[in-house]
Formats: sequence, structure tokens, C-alpha cells
Amino acid sequence: AAEEGFDAEEVEGALGEAGHGPLPVLAVIGRPNVGKSTLVNRILGRREAVVEDRPGVTRDRVTYEAEWAGRRFKVVDTGGWEQDVLGIDASVAAQAEFAIEAADAVVFVVDAKVGATDTDEAVVKLLRRSGKPVVLCANKVDGPSGEADAAYLWSLGLGEPQPVSALHGRGTGDMLDEVLRVMPDAPAETFGAVLGGPRRVALIGRPNVGKSSLLNKVAREDRVVVHEIAGTTRDPVDELIDLGGKTWKFVDTAGIRRRVHLQEGADYYASLRTAAALEKAEVAVVLIDVTEPISVQDLRIISMAVDAGRALVLAYNKWDTLDEERRYYLEREIERDLVQVQWAPRVNVSARTGRHMEKLVPAIETALEGWETRVPTGRLNAFLGEIVASHPHPVRGGKQPRILFGTQAGTKPPRFVLFASGFLEAGYRRFIERRLREQFGFEGTPVHLSVRVRE
Ligand code: GDP
Ligand code: GDP
Repeated sequence: AAEEGFDAEEVEGALGEAGHGPLPVLAVIGRPNVGKSTLVNRILGRREAVVEDRPGVTRDRVTYEAEWAGRRFKVVDTGGWEQDVLGIDASVAAQAEFAIEAADAVVFVVDAKVGATDTDEAVVKLLRRSGKPVVLCANKVDGPSGEADAAYLWSLGLGEPQPVSALHGRGTGDMLDEVLRVMPDAPAETFGAVLGGPRRVALIGRPNVGKSSLLNKVAREDRVVVHEIAGTTRDPVDELIDLGGKTWKFVDTAGIRRRVHLQEGADYYASLRTAAALEKAEVAVVLIDVTEPISVQDLRIISMAVDAGRALVLAYNKWDTLDEERRYYLEREIERDLVQVQWAPRVNVSARTGRHMEKLVPAIETALEGWETRVPTGRLNAFLGEIVASHPHPVRGGKQPRILFGTQAGTKPPRFVLFASGFLEAGYRRFIERRLREQFGFEGTPVHLSVRVRE
């Protein structure tokens, strides 16, 4: 009765949309202007719009969900990233390195009209060494006359070039079929999780906030050299560390320990590493340097973690330096800039003195717990029923949209689908999310709310 007005198939469809396990990641890489962004838009073109309201500080997404032939995956759009801060060669190489680390499959886009350049050849070397599945996209083949240009790209040694016109859509279907053929069903990292491997933590933050110092502090004597845990493949860039009686995997620490801080383009490179670490992690610990005002860059990193759907802990580092005055302003900044993530557990630490290091693990555990929380459908609907009765949606145009039924479609992070008799305003959806949090916790996790409207 609770599902009034919706048939089983519709409910099922909506669940499929919102509830899925970790998805494999496809990275689209290539030189500037070969058509990466055009291709990504083409791949995403079929996305179904679901009304969604997510908290976030700024929108700065690099990964999107896509679907082809009934399979869902994530697409990483490297096209929107600043291209010229490092010089073309370096930034294309950084992209390739990112793809190798973070992606489960790669589409390497080459402009067939231009042919393979030296930069393309260099990327091919990196890709080949990685062993990741690669599909070679020969783009800008807008008509049959371009097919010959595509054939020249056999010389790259990446197998059959897929002739595509990202602009007009020509050949993109065949190319995606090829992608699905080579891409694994689930990201490699999830196998560890399924087998109960160590939880995966990304320690992120802008340069100089103290990431290496913190990692060194927590890893002090307990750095694990040899480890025999079933189901863990040890990636050289990951670090296994025993903390609070458990083993944790700090992912992608190579970037942290690399002490060369590139002057030019450091931000660009750092954002690649952050995205790569987030793809592999379950929980993000974002470090904030309390000696400096909270910056746009801090907010961007936090929103990357939220958008990636990871559990979140905020660690305020360099607490040893804090005086009364700075502390006063810090709290004002937090109130002003971080209200959107006030659900994240907070720890005030010092990597230098070791202050409150023991609070880090409980905070991470709290966040992971929220991230995995599942609310039984019965309890959820009892809660929704009470809300609808006590705080109905305002009447709009003589109609009153009503929530008919809700279900939790997934966890990690929690995803809810509400079925409603009309459009629910953003303010009302935020109100529901607030009440969900009050009622069920969800400390340290983003919560997704989608609304399905019965027309
Ligand atoms: P990115 O820098 O690799 O992301 O490249 P963009 O997607 O921004 O595309 C660069 C330029 O190439 C734009 O002017 C596009 O319109 C054009 N372009 C992209 N794909 C095609 C294509 O398949 N055919 C043609 N003729 N032009 C394309
Ligand atoms: P990363 O770039 O985020 O890895 O930052 P580092 O770990 O290299 O630290 C940057 C600088 O901040 C170094 O000079 C550290 O000694 C200093 N630092 C890191 N943590 C603390 C802290 O808790 N207190 C103080 N006073 N300085 C710190």
C-alpha cells in the first residue's frame, strides 16, 4: 500500500539508478583539443536526469556516471582541467599517470586528422607499461573519407583504432562496445573490500598542510613492512599502517611523500593526485592548516571528497601554533565556509607534537559507520509518514506534493529514493535530509536523496 501509484518495475528502475556497488572507472585522456570533452559529453549524453539535491561547497566534478548497454561506469573527464600550467607534454603525462593509477580502463583519444605526435607516442609508452586496458579512439573521423587517417594509427601499437566522430556521434557506439569488452565489471580495489581487506583512507589537503608529517607521525614505529593479509594486493603507492589495533591502507601516499614540490603547476598536479586517491579510498581525511585562513582550495578539496561519495573526516592540523586570536577567526571561518559539511567529524591535531592523534581513528571509524548505515524500509517509511503529517510540503499552484514512499537504494554513501506525487522543492528536500540525519545519524557521510515524481 505504501507504494501507491508505482509499479514494481518503476521502483526497480529507480533503485538501479541510485543503488549500485562501486563502479569501474574509465578515464578519457589525450592531448589538448583532440576532442576529449566532446567525447565525454557524447558518452554522458544519454544520462537520465534524476532530481537530485546534494550538499557541496563548490561544484568541481571530475567524475561522472555513465551507462552504456545496461552497464554503469564512471567517466573521468580530464578535458576540463587546466592544460597549460605545466606545459602540454607534462600535463598530458600527468593525465596518463593519473589514468594508470585511478582508472580501470582508458580511452586514449588521438586526433586522426593530425596523426600521432611525439606526445602521443610518449603516452603510449606509459600506457603499455601499465597493462591497463586501453581503447584507442581515432577522433575527428567525421565521414568515410577519414577512415584512412584512422588506419594510420595502427602504428601506435595499441590495437585497432576506433574511428569516431565525437562531434557527430559517428562510431561512438562501436567504441563504447569495445570499452565494455575490455573493462572489468568492478574496480580492482573492491576485491580487497569484499574479502575484508584493510579499510582505505585518503589523506588529502592542499600542499604544506602537513600530510607527510601526519603520515610519518602515525606510521612512526608501526610502519608495516611485510604484510600477509588475504585479498590485499599491495600497490607500491599505498601504505599499510597499524593504528588503534587495526591495519589501515593509506592510499596513494607516493604523492604525499614526494618531497619535490613543483612550483609551476603544483596545484594542477596536486588535484590529479587528490582525484586518484579519492577514487581508491573509502574515507577521506582532509587536512586543514589552522595557521592560514580556510581557502577556496581547501573547500574545493572537501567538495571533491563529497562529490566522490566518500566518508569524510576534517582534521585541523598545526593546532600547536594556535593562539586565542587565530582560534577565534578559525571558528568563524568554519561557521561561515563549512556549514555544508558540518556532519563531518572533526579532530584538532598536531602532526608535530602528536596532539590528539588517538582521536583520528575513532573519527575515521565513526565516518565509515555512517557511510555504511542502512535504514530498514519499514523504519524509513514510518519516519517519512511522520514528517509528511507534521511538516507537509507547502501547497504550490493549488497542489500539495506528497511523499508517497521511500527506500534506501544503497550505502557507501547512503542513497535514498523518494517517490512523490509532485515536484519537491530544494528547500523541502534539504529539510528531509536534515531530519534523516537527526533521526538516523549518518555522521561523516554525504547522503544522496533522489526524488521520483509520479506524473
Ligand atoms: P579536448 O581539449 O581534448 O577536451 O577537446 P575538445 O572536446 O574541447 O575539442 C576541441 C575541438 O575539436 C573543438 O573545437 C571541437 O568541436 C572539435 N572536435 C571534437 N571532436 C570532433 C570531431 O569528432 N570532429 C571534428 N571535426 N571536430 C571535433
Ligand atoms: P604536505 O605538503 O601536506 O605533505 O606538508 P608537510 O608535511 O610537508 O608539512 C609542511 C610544513 O608544515 C613542514 O614545514 C612541517 O614541518 C610543518 N608542519 C606539519 N605539521 C605541523 C604541525 O602540526 N605543527 C606545526 N607547527 N608545523 C607542522
